[in-house]
Amino acid sequence: MLERRDVIGGAAVTEEVIPGFKFSVFSYLMSLLHPKVIADLELRRHGFEVLPASDMFGPLPGGDHILFSDSIEKTQASFARFSKKDAEIYPEFDRYLMESARIVRQLLLETPPDPSCRDWRAFRETSKLLWKYRRVGGKLFRLIDLMTMSADAYLSEWFESTHVKAVLAYYCGIGTFAGPRSPGSAYVIMHHVMGEHAGAGGWGFIRGGMGTITQAIAASGRTHGMEVRTNAAVAAIDTSGGRATGVTLTDGTRIAAPIVASNVSAKLTFLQFLPRDQLPADFVREIESYRTYSTAFKINIACERLPAYTAFDPHACGFAYPTYTHIGPTIDYLDRAYDDAKYGDWSREPFVTPVAPSFVDDTIAPPGKHVVHLFGGHAPYTLREGDWETRKPDFVKSVLAVMDSHAPGFSDGIIGMQVLTPPDIEARIGSPHGHIFHGELQADQLFFARPAPHYADYRSPIRGLYQCGSSAHPGGGVGGVPGHNAAREILRDRRR
Ligand SMILES: Cc1cc2nc3c(=O)[nH]c(=O)nc-3n(C[C@H](O)[C@H](O)[C@H](O)COP(=O)(O)OP(=O)(O)OC[C@H]3O[C@@H](n4cnc5c(N)ncnc54)[C@H](O)[C@@H]3O)c2cc1C
Repeated sequence: MLERRDVIGGAAVTEEVIPGFKFSVFSYLMSLLHPKVIADLELRRHGFEVLPASDMFGPLPGGDHILFSDSIEKTQASFARFSKKDAEIYPEFDRYLMESARIVRQLLLETPPDPSCRDWRAFRETSKLLWKYRRVGGKLFRLIDLMTMSADAYLSEWFESTHVKAVLAYYCGIGTFAGPRSPGSAYVIMHHVMGEHAGAGGWGFIRGGMGTITQAIAASGRTHGMEVRTNAAVAAIDTSGGRATGVTLTDGTRIAAPIVASNVSAKLTFLQFLPRDQLPADFVREIESYRTYSTAFKINIACERLPAYTAFDPHACGFAYPTYTHIGPTIDYLDRAYDDAKYGDWSREPFVTPVAPSFVDDTIAPPGKHVVHLFGGHAPYTLREGDWETRKPDFVKSVLAVMDSHAPGFSDGIIGMQVLTPPDIEARIGSPHGHIFHGELQADQLFFARPAPHYADYRSPIRGLYQCGSSAHPGGGVGGVPGHNAAREILRDRRR
């Protein structure tokens, strides 16, 4: 296992960026890690422990709030304050969405077939999949709706209150350059509620930060003989006669290997590590046009105190503190945030997800102090005017203004922070444009088209070179699924 940085884990790391404060520098909430991956790798034996996040708390202008909880009744009670009709229909919507989520969950562990391929093996794989999911047929239209509709249009078929719709549509802009009125944005809601773990919508914290997950994977791997090398940047994938033969590092070291599995972005694997003339021209074109443009930002804060939301009342909410908050009160608010980014500005009023893991995890901050992560959008990779280097302080001010408007005085208690714009994310983990999922989660870049038609089965045009990261099905998130599925295909090929 070769890693360019001095720490393994990619976007799932814990780093002590400010002395005494351990940040989940990139990913910050866990829900997508697949139960089979947890079991197969025995991650619980190696320190993996989920700490539930609170219900999702949404402060609204004027001091009101809305809640989104795992408890249907609690969510209904909160929605009822904005619309009786929305509260009544919510259980039916939840059932409907969860049925779709179950279908998508089943597809996670599938290797996408190539329905356009005419050879016997591809035909058999496609037929097998269609037969296995024959009962899904009647629900096909639900999936088409999710894949093609905007989040707003999809939710408006059920709900009338903009606050209710904004709670559910919020996810559609997470790590996606889209607004709630962009076609196809409904699917991203689904991607975020597919998880099966603790907390609202299935989200939880990991004791010790997200790096605990990747350290546990490494510990598990070592028990099976895996060797990890850090500060080992790959410069090229070596090939001979259309077959992978190993890699060459930037310091010139050559490592021979009959199989190379790459979890870096497809753009790096195929456009940077390999000469283009070794790949089919149409495949190169597909990878070149694979959309990675990103507008997601992350600010990691060490602070004296937690945000004290004026709209939060522990008795009314039924929990001690909102460790998981969404600031994005209306559909218009979310859409305006996108509008700004569309034209190359950061959102004047960004949507922000403040999470406070140190409220439940005493291993990541000194006693009495806290770690708060602000994830949100939109902060376009390329600014229309100026550059990130000079304009970053103004950007940070606009994010903190949103925080202070809901939790007055929060910014006065900041001890230190790490600000990550898309170029910062790209510089650290190499994901092009700093895309958090290595590429947009939209219909043309999903399942048998991720990352490119004909190569969604974790293989590649180079024999022995496999794709095992977020650029492959089912996409980004700390899920372990692309790795799981790629391993299965590698073993299958070895048995042939
Ligand atoms: C800011 C941010 C917030 C996120 N929030 C969440 C969240 O809360 N929950 C969630 O489930 N998901 C979240 N995600 C998404 C999730 O973290 C990623 O989808 C997932 O970690 C990607 O894993 P990966 O193995 O595919 O690739 P990565 O984690 O990107 O790993 C790629 C690795 O390759 C290394 N590398 C790059 N170039 C080279 C080279 N030349 N040689 C050797 N090594 C190289 C990189 O350093 C990196 O370690 C977030 C991502 C980001 C960036």
